Amino acid sequence: ARRKLVAGNWKMNGDLAALAELEGIAAAAVAAPGVDVAIAVPATLIAPAAARVPGFTIGAEDVHPADKGAHTGCISVPMIREAGASFSIVGHSERRADCGETDADVRAKAEALLRHGMHAILCVGETLAERDAGQAQAVVTGQLRASFPDGAASGWLSIAYEPVWAIGTGRTPTVEDVAAIHGAIRATLVDLLGDDAQAMRVLYGGSVTAENAASLLGAGDVDGALVGGASLTAAKFVPIIDAGA
Ligand code: 13P
Repeated sequence: ARRKLVAGNWKMNGDLAALAELEGIAAAAVAAPGVDVAIAVPATLIAPAAARVPGFTIGAEDVHPADKGAHTGCISVPMIREAGASFSIVGHSERRADCGETDADVRAKAEALLRHGMHAILCVGETLAERDAGQAQAVVTGQLRASFPDGAASGWLSIAYEPVWAIGTGRTPTVEDVAAIHGAIRATLVDLLGDDAQAMRVLYGGSVTAENAASLLGAGDVDGALVGGASLTAAKFVPIIDAGA
C-alpha cells in the first residue's frame, strides 16, 4: 500500500511570524508516523522554515530548470536545496496561468529536480470550461503525458490532481469524480512507467479542509492531499494530517 502524503502549499502567503504555525504542524507530523507531511513555502521562507523545524520536510513552490545563469528573479534547484528544501512543486495551475508555463517547461523543471535527487510534486488539472465540455480526463492525462519527466520513478515524483475550478473556491468534485480522474491518471502512469506506477503517489488538491479531508483521502487511488488555504495554520492543517493517518 502507498503511504499517504499530506502536503501544504503556502503560495504567496506567510512571513517570519507565520513560521510559528510550523511548530504545531511538525509536532503533528511526528505524532502521525504513518503519513508523510511536507510544506512548500515562498522562497524567502525556505531557510528560516528549515531552521525553525529541523527534520520536517520543507519545499519550494517552483524552480527554474537551469542550475544557474542569466535568469533575473529566478531560483534554481541547487539554491533551494542549499536553503533547506528537499522538494518543489512544479506545474501548479497558478504558474501555468500567471506565468505562461507550458507542459514542456514543467517537464524541464521536474527533470532538474531529478538531476539533483530532489522530490517533485507535479500538478495537473482541468479548468471549469474543460470540465463542462466533458474534457477533464483528456486534459489531465494529456498534461500528465506532456509534462512527465524522463527518468521518473515513484521514489522522487508525486502527481497532484488539482481541478482549477476547485482551487480556493470551496467547491470540490464528488468523491466519484475524483476517483475517476485518479483512476485515469493511474492508468496513464502504468502506460508510462510499468510496474513502478503502482508505487507513485497521486494527490488530490483543491479546497481540501478538515471537514472533507477524510472522504477525499478515502477516494479510490487518492494517496494524499495538496492543501492551499487550510495549510496556513496548524489548527486547520493538523486535522487534515490526522485524516491521512
Ligand atoms: P486551496 O486548498 O486553497 O484550494 O488550494 C489548493 C492548491 O492549489 C494547492 O496547491
